[in-house]
Amino acid sequence: MRKPLIAGNWKMFKTRQEAKEFLTELKPLCNDTSREVLLCVPFTALETAKKAVRGSKIKIGAQNMSWADEGAFTGDISAAMLLDIGVDYVIIGHSERRAMFGDTNQTVNNKLKQAIKNGLKPIVCVGETDAEKEAGKTQEVLYKQIIDGFDGLTEEEAAGTIVAYEPIWAIGTGKTATPELANNEIKFIRNKLGKRFSDKCANKIRILYGGSVKAANFASFMAMSDIDGGLVGGASLKAKEFAGIINYEK
Ligand code: PEP
Repeated sequence: MRKPLIAGNWKMFKTRQEAKEFLTELKPLCNDTSREVLLCVPFTALETAKKAVRGSKIKIGAQNMSWADEGAFTGDISAAMLLDIGVDYVIIGHSERRAMFGDTNQTVNNKLKQAIKNGLKPIVCVGETDAEKEAGKTQEVLYKQIIDGFDGLTEEEAAGTIVAYEPIWAIGTGKTATPELANNEIKFIRNKLGKRFSDKCANKIRILYGGSVKAANFASFMAMSDIDGGLVGGASLKAKEFAGIINYEK
């Protein structure tokens, strides 16, 4: 069985003080959950967040990382720096990084290998734009993102990854995919991972849905056969709303 993962992505929101306040409020609201809870916070809040979640099961992740060990990469953050703070997870290839900061399937692949080499758990984001969807190209795009992004990985390495299917037209727009559509694309992704690696491997990979998830709609996604959790942007910024997502009713 794949354990549900509820991952928040704060994007470029929250100072250290705000992070501390949020986590202090969230902690008692998800004490009893059997689900895995993760918050991917800005680099500057990682250390504060790690300290603030002590004594709880909440995990802390980063939103990006470098593919290089170290060197002349102004503004970048290495895996070693994340490990130094005790970070477990890292988002790779979020659509905002692909659209605005030059991430490609190739750099996603490099970053993914670097994360795995360093023992960080990667959440690889894939998803199509509105135009690609309208042109009937969703699965072509997803296929390339998966095949190129996972290039060169062993079956064991792939099995330890997490994928987030995030249709770009649903991110921050309030326009969610229907649970059926999301499940269908997630099944497609799992099927391709199964063909590329093995069914056993693909059945171990958690595949999340992301795109305007909120407490009011999350249960309908989690009722689907292949959706293993959520990657949550806007709704992860308010502790009560995020707790409502974590504690969705089956
Ligand atoms: C995201 O940032 O990955 C995301 C899905 O954002 P939102 O939940 O706000 O659509």
